Amino acid sequence: MEVTTPLTDFPGVGEVRAKALAKLGLRTAGDLAAYLPRAYEDRRASYTIAEAPLDQPVCIPVLLAEEPRRMNIRRGLDVTRMKVVDGASAMLVSFFNQGYLRQALHRGEEYVLYGKVALVGDHRQMTNPQFEPAARPHLTGRIVPVYPLTAGISNALLASLVEQALEALPAPEESLPGELLAAHGLAPLERCWRDIHFPPTPEALEAARRRFAFEELFYLSLGLALLRHRRSAGRGPAIRGEIGDFQALLPFALTGAQKKAIDEAAADMASGRPMNRLIQGDVGSGKTAVAAACAWLVCRAGWQCAMMAPTEILAEQHWRSLHGMLAPAGIRVGLLTGSMRASEKKKVYEELRSGGLQFVVGTHALLSEGVAFQRLGLAIADEQHRFGVEQRAALAAKAGELEDGLRPHVLVMSATPIPRTLALMIYGDLDISVIDELPPGRTPVKTFLVGESKRQRMYGFVRAQVAEGRQVYIVCPSVEENGEAEGGWDLKAVTRYARTLREQVFPDLRVGLVHGKLKAKEKEAAMAAFAAGETDVLVATTVIEVGVDVPNASLMIVENAERFGLSQLHQLRGRVGRGKHQSWCILVSDDRAPETRARLRVLTGTTDGFKIAEEDLKLRGPGDFFGARQHGLPTFRVADLNTDTRVLKEAQEAAGEVLAADPDLSRPEHRPLLDKVRKLFEEDPDMFN
Ligand code: ADP
Ligand code: MG
Repeated sequence: MEVTTPLTDFPGVGEVRAKALAKLGLRTAGDLAAYLPRAYEDRRASYTIAEAPLDQPVCIPVLLAEEPRRMNIRRGLDVTRMKVVDGASAMLVSFFNQGYLRQALHRGEEYVLYGKVALVGDHRQMTNPQFEPAARPHLTGRIVPVYPLTAGISNALLASLVEQALEALPAPEESLPGELLAAHGLAPLERCWRDIHFPPTPEALEAARRRFAFEELFYLSLGLALLRHRRSAGRGPAIRGEIGDFQALLPFALTGAQKKAIDEAAADMASGRPMNRLIQGDVGSGKTAVAAACAWLVCRAGWQCAMMAPTEILAEQHWRSLHGMLAPAGIRVGLLTGSMRASEKKKVYEELRSGGLQFVVGTHALLSEGVAFQRLGLAIADEQHRFGVEQRAALAAKAGELEDGLRPHVLVMSATPIPRTLALMIYGDLDISVIDELPPGRTPVKTFLVGESKRQRMYGFVRAQVAEGRQVYIVCPSVEENGEAEGGWDLKAVTRYARTLREQVFPDLRVGLVHGKLKAKEKEAAMAAFAAGETDVLVATTVIEVGVDVPNASLMIVENAERFGLSQLHQLRGRVGRGKHQSWCILVSDDRAPETRARLRVLTGTTDGFKIAEEDLKLRGPGDFFGARQHGLPTFRVADLNTDTRVLKEAQEAAGEVLAADPDLSRPEHRPLLDKVRKLFEEDPDMFN
């Protein structure tokens, strides 16, 4: 047998089963060996009927004492009952809707049952146990894998197929270097590839799991470290300058944390190597000013700067504030978004090529073909978690060939606070600065969780805030924009809601509406009206999630709050509490599920973005946390970032050691490692070429 042997070559697998197996991604013997159990059942111990512990699955060898009897309970429900005995006692076993068992089970034969024993009165009983003949036990006495299944494929069948494949296939070649196995006490693949399916002991299972987790994390760490090395290899524009004068352009004094981040970035840019830095700071921590300071240094040194934002609204807002900050210093800042007229775009293209425009702020439009820079020195990506690793690289690549093969500096800003371990994973190729201090004078946003019954009181509160001159956001979950908001509102619902507010609830107030499907001009007009204080209440979808800044807004209401992730709610909440006024956030949800309440209560309990991110991660796992495709990283099959922190650390150190000796894996003996890393980042193999 070979890894490519088709499953139809296995006894008992015909066209129908082969089709069902293909649904699980299983087509060949090799697929079977690589198909990992989702759980295990420990069937090593057997008990007598009388001594079996209750309410946990156990094995009990029994003799069938009578022919199974089948009874109809009602239409569509029947039960097959039988008495079983062992040396000392008897018990009743029931199977629901499995009438065929009358033919499969025979009086006087011995079987091993696997299931939970329940006490009914003082009689022991079992319902729907699994069973196998005691004379030919297959699963009894072992730790049994439990696989993800599909209709028509039982776990017993799958386990048997996997076992046949493991027996017939040659052991795979070891995929980790021998020194690593020795140094980290890892079990060899030869053993693990079997033990992960059929571990002889729990210890063997743990060893196999640890090995595979290590392997996944090692290659990922290696890949990220390699990226980081490649990016920082070579030279960047050496940009030196005094940052002191920049402060004079601002209406406020920079916080200590902002200064520190600026200093770190300035040191990178002066070093002669290309900067690859992540600025991580909670919403409202003032990342824009840090970016502005870097841009200012770069433009003054005669280089160009580009800043990419995830939405048009955000790009426009950045453009407005950066233009405001930098124009007095004689720096021309331009805007480039997809919805601009072709003639406007063309003008920006020309000015970027000629160098007439020093700083351009835009959306993905910055990556379009027409864009070429005269001399790009710094590429900035805002709210990076929305861009993949690749886009970050693509923006920097826009610089093309700089004179003397220089690479531009890259600065990434993220408002999603990420737990440290995860940050190392996701941003393993970046240096990190954390802005851990908010500008002075901010009062934390008071957050409440309310149900429908409080709606009228809540509207009263909206009125009271507006009467004091404040403004209010009301956010609705929109399916159109937000894949995460499953079961959210469609556009019609959002529009209808805004109309009801306008016509019935607040006929005397000015109610605006902004959502992602509006034309850019309309969006801009709605946002601008709100920013200028011309609307009191802004009904919005999550387009306002990132970055929009209206200091006079003091109240945010989130409808169907249960539809949002915690980190996303935290981002939303960051839209208020930006001015000198006490601010509020009201989460509206009638979802009574204890998990939902617990989740939303995290927000009412803290405004610390890092704490919220940690909770979010715990509750949802890293995949969901970022949205499957957002981070551009491979997914894990075995490793679990919540529990494998120790393994992660070891794997990262191991990757560091390998690269310290051979920074770009160019030695022949490291060729297999390089191949593995390339395969891992398959979606974007160019990253490693
Ligand atoms: P974010 O980190 O969320 O991008 P912004 O850069 O948008 O934050 O800044 C949020 C608000 O705080 C803006 O109105 C900005 O002008 C203001 N701000 C930034 N830094 C300071 C500071 N050091 N002192 C006072 N206000 C500041
Ligand atoms: Mg921002």
